[in-house]
Amino acid sequence: MTNLYFKKWEGRPGRIIAYRLSYGVDLLGALQGIAEEEDIRFGWIKFLGGVKKAKVAYYLQDRKEFIAFDLDEPMEILSGMGNISLKEGRPFVHAHVTFMNREGKVLGGHLMEGTVVMAGEVFIQELALPAPPQRVYDEVTGLYLWV
Ligand code: ZN
Repeated sequence: MTNLYFKKWEGRPGRIIAYRLSYGVDLLGALQGIAEEEDIRFGWIKFLGGVKKAKVAYYLQDRKEFIAFDLDEPMEILSGMGNISLKEGRPFVHAHVTFMNREGKVLGGHLMEGTVVMAGEVFIQELALPAPPQRVYDEVTGLYLWV
């Protein structure tokens, strides 16, 4: 079925893989490394744990650019979620994170390199389909979206 409101991909459940991340690694770098090593072409990620510090970003829709924030304190990862899809033919991780600091404040954003893992538990679910989407630059949003 085709309609004007969305594009659709339908696949079958592939591998479900769990990881414990090593102390001191870069969170996004580790997720990206796993995605490439396992050659996950389409799927989703869930993770939780704790970080020593974090870097997240917010997308300025009018300027079509990300601004980054340093969250320079140890925090819990209350919820981490993301997806893996192909960008320029290679697995690419897009992840968002919600943190909690020691005052109980919730902070978060689009995960950037510069987030240092204290402990991390990750599940990746692969979605297998013959023609997974590719991330291609979208003029309207300024983002690399699935096509
Ligand atoms: Zn994002």
